[in-house]
Amino acid sequence: MLSKKRFLAVLDIIGEMFPEAHGELDAKTPFQLLIAVILSAQATDKGVNKATPALFAAYPDSKQLAQANLSEVEALIKTIGLYRSKAKNIIKTAMMIEEEFGGEIPRDKQLLQTLPGVGRKTANVVLGDAFGIPGIAVDTHVERISKRLQLVKQSATVTEVEEKLMKVVPESEWIVTHHRLIFFGRYHCTARAPKCAACPVLPYCHFGGKISSK
Ligand code: SF4
Repeated sequence: MLSKKRFLAVLDIIGEMFPEAHGELDAKTPFQLLIAVILSAQATDKGVNKATPALFAAYPDSKQLAQANLSEVEALIKTIGLYRSKAKNIIKTAMMIEEEFGGEIPRDKQLLQTLPGVGRKTANVVLGDAFGIPGIAVDTHVERISKRLQLVKQSATVTEVEEKLMKVVPESEWIVTHHRLIFFGRYHCTARAPKCAACPVLPYCHFGGKISSK
C-alpha cells in the first residue's frame, strides 16, 4: 500500500500537472449545478454541457422546473444517457426544493441525499463547488486512481475510498484534490491506455510499473 507521505508527494506532482483543475459542468447557480451533476451520472460533462443551455433557458430555477412538463424536459435532455429517469428525477428534485427547502439548496450532505438522483458523490460536488464546503467526491476517476496507486485495496468501496482520502489529505485541500484527481484521470491516467510511459507519477505507481515492465 502507498504511504500517506508518498501519496501526498503524488498529489503534489498531479497538482503541478493540472494546476487549473476545476469543475467542468456549466452552471450559473447552485441549483443549475445540482441539476447538471444529476444529469452527469454515467454521462460525460461535455454531453451534459451541450444539453443544459436549452434546459436552463426554459427552466432556469427550481420554481420553473418544478412545474415543467415531463415530456418537454425529456425532449431537452434526450441526448444524455438515462434521460427518462433523469428527467423524472430533476423535476422531482425541483419540487422537493420548492416544497421542503423553501426554494434553497440544502447545504447539508444528508439532506441533499434525500433528493432524487442525488447520491454521496453528487452531494459532495454541489457542496464543494457551489458553497465551498470541503468534501472529496469519489467518481470513477478518483476511485480508479486511488486503486491503481494502491492508496486503498482493490476491493475498497467508494465510501472507503472517500474516507481514506479525507484521512490522508488535509481538509483545506479536499476540493482542489478532487478536481485534480478527476483531471488526472480524465486526461492522463485514463481507464484505457493510461499514459504510463510519460507519467511523472510512475516511480510511485505499482500499476504503471507492472505495465511498463511487460
Ligand atoms: Fe496512471 Fe500509469 Fe501514471 Fe500509474 S504510471 S499513475 S497507472 S498513468
